[in-house]
Amino acid sequence: MKILLVDDSRAIAMLTGARLESFGHEVKHAINGETALQYFRNEHFDLILMDIEMPGMNGFEVTTRIRALEGQEPWAWTPIIFVTATDTEANLVTAIEAGGDDFISKTVPENILQAKMKAMSRIAALRARLCLANNKLQDQANQDGLTGLLNRRAMDLRVDAAWEQARTASSPFSLLMVDVDNFKKYNDHYGHLVGDDCLRAVAACLARQLQQINDARRAPGSFVARYGGEEFAVIIPDAEPGVHAGVAADIVAAVSALGIPHAENGQHGVVTISVGAACFPHAMGEIKTLFRLADDLLYKAKDAGRNRAEVA
Ligand code: GH3
Ligand code: MG
Ligand code: MG
Ligand code: MG
Repeated sequence: MKILLVDDSRAIAMLTGARLESFGHEVKHAINGETALQYFRNEHFDLILMDIEMPGMNGFEVTTRIRALEGQEPWAWTPIIFVTATDTEANLVTAIEAGGDDFISKTVPENILQAKMKAMSRIAALRARLCLANNKLQDQANQDGLTGLLNRRAMDLRVDAAWEQARTASSPFSLLMVDVDNFKKYNDHYGHLVGDDCLRAVAACLARQLQQINDARRAPGSFVARYGGEEFAVIIPDAEPGVHAGVAADIVAAVSALGIPHAENGQHGVVTISVGAACFPHAMGEIKTLFRLADDLLYKAKDAGRNRAEVA
């Protein structure tokens, strides 16, 4: 385990630290509460051993602050064991109330300390597994099952956050609505399963394009989501006006360059997309307006023959 040892006495910290290290743990020592909080903010620990009596912030106060910091993250809980010279009943109750999990004496026999550490290791391992499972669930909840892109729900959340940020910074904000051309006919002609494969290929192509755009820092923070059905949305926060036109042209060209045969797609012969690309400085209105604008432009692109982008 990685253990944070908080104690104002260097001598005690060295002694306890050496014992813990001899059990195979990694120990970091904080000489006071402020330092402990600083370490806690920057690093992950499996366990905290907390002295109670310290000048400045005492162990109870440090613990209360640690629990407050953890409160912002739903799965965070670092076990805290108080270590003190005076294991009175009152101290024990206060320790648990402050958010501590256990209480040991500074003179705890070696075998008891080792046994407690073993129990804590089990909890740490369990917590790591729970965290992993929780992250996986979170990813699944945000992902579209067919394409692996962000789903509509995750997109809405990210759009709201990006929009809010753009508003605060008065930066421009672009939205591209993307729609696969004549996709009903594609399904009718090739069948729905092939249609699914086609949507996956288009989605992967859009994701690659966005990755390249982000890597080249043309529009950092831009992302693509499955808006629904055969429609996708590309969000480009904080890019110079004009960047969205380039991105729109690039994705139209990239999808048609995939060369996926589509016998029923007019003169194009391959799977293509149409794009409506809208951009405006935040001051001009609400996000709803931007979606409507991009939608209108998308219909213009459809009317103009598909496989193209209409840009505001
Ligand atoms: P347009 O060029 O005007 O956009 O024509 P379109 O045929 O693409 O538009 P329309 O909205 O009439 O049809 C969209 C089709 O997309 C209908 C629907 O069956 C298909 N679709 C939506 N979601 C999926 C999916 O997950 N898998 C498959 N295979 N098809 C889907
Ligand atoms: Mg002390
Ligand atoms: Mg559509
Ligand atoms: Mg369509």
